[in-house]
Amino acid sequence: MTEKLYYIDAYIKEFDAEVISSEYDGKYYLTVLDKTAFFPEEGGQSADKGFIGGVRVLDAREMDGIVYHITESELKRGSYHCVLDFDQRFEKMQCHSAEHILCGIIHRLYGYENVGFHLGEDLVTFDVGGELTASEIGEVERLANEIIYENREISTVFPSHEELKKLEYRSKLELYENVRLVVIDGVDTCACCAPHVSYTGEIGVIKIVDFMRHRGGMRLFLQAGRRAFADYTSRYEITRAVGALTSTPSLEVLSSVEKLHADNAALSARLSELGLELARQRSSEIEKTDGNAVYLYGKGASMDEMREIANCAVERVGGVLAVLTEADGGYRYIIASRSVDLRTVIKDINASLSGKGGGRPEMVSGSFGSDIDTIKAYFN
Ligand SMILES: [Zn+2]
Repeated sequence: MTEKLYYIDAYIKEFDAEVISSEYDGKYYLTVLDKTAFFPEEGGQSADKGFIGGVRVLDAREMDGIVYHITESELKRGSYHCVLDFDQRFEKMQCHSAEHILCGIIHRLYGYENVGFHLGEDLVTFDVGGELTASEIGEVERLANEIIYENREISTVFPSHEELKKLEYRSKLELYENVRLVVIDGVDTCACCAPHVSYTGEIGVIKIVDFMRHRGGMRLFLQAGRRAFADYTSRYEITRAVGALTSTPSLEVLSSVEKLHADNAALSARLSELGLELARQRSSEIEKTDGNAVYLYGKGASMDEMREIANCAVERVGGVLAVLTEADGGYRYIIASRSVDLRTVIKDINASLSGKGGGRPEMVSGSFGSDIDTIKAYFN
């Protein structure tokens, strides 16, 4: 069994250890040490990274009490100085401790159990077994941050089987032997194997950044500590940039964006009104004919405008009227007719003009890949 230094002290950044074995698994080396501070992937938390000697540790897994360090190259037997990427580890300690506080509060207030946890390199989610409203989540978040300001102690204990029976604690499993309890003074007691911070103040800040209903309960997305600060910074930069674009202070960007949105909707409505008016006027350019007619209406016209032209001019065309507009390197079309059941001919038309589309007997729409001369020649 590997001696687990991370159980005893979560703050070990460097240590010396003996390499016991280092075996090739077909891609990397599985290196076993006599003791380790590298926390392996466990309980939803991703593994620590760092170096054994000069060799990079990419991942770590535990099997039957042995921690296997996934190393880039082979390590010969002997003593090595090992270094963790402690910035990353500390961020996980902050997030994991934050999750305990939140789940402890949710359990106390609403009785819901924690039923899932994922602590990756940039995303932290946890699931609870019941539904919470936005205001309930806001209250849980507020209380969690109060626990941070109170800077409460977080300790770990290994109670005996007898002691354990008398204790109330959160756990995903029925555990009896070698149970490690993480105790946040007055807030939560939970069976857990991962490293945590020693005082809640080290978490800095807790923020639920998103939540959704999930399998009869809730999935919550968490930011805490250094990651929360980075998240705050990027969100602040976004609001500041939007503020600069709209010439408003960053805290007022919501109302200025709402106004832009409303102005844009009004402009769009006016534009489509004018577009239809113009389409009606242009439709008079289509001359009366007993045969077919092809009318090319600029670039990127809306389907509503093209339909308007077709509806206004179709009576003057004895055969079929094809209204086209240039779009996506080809032509979008509306074809209308009073004399031909278009459903019976559209397959043929599409096949001849690299097209696709369909519709009703009196009007079909779609797109052609052929060039304009080929299209005109086909209909004429
Ligand atoms: Zn934990």
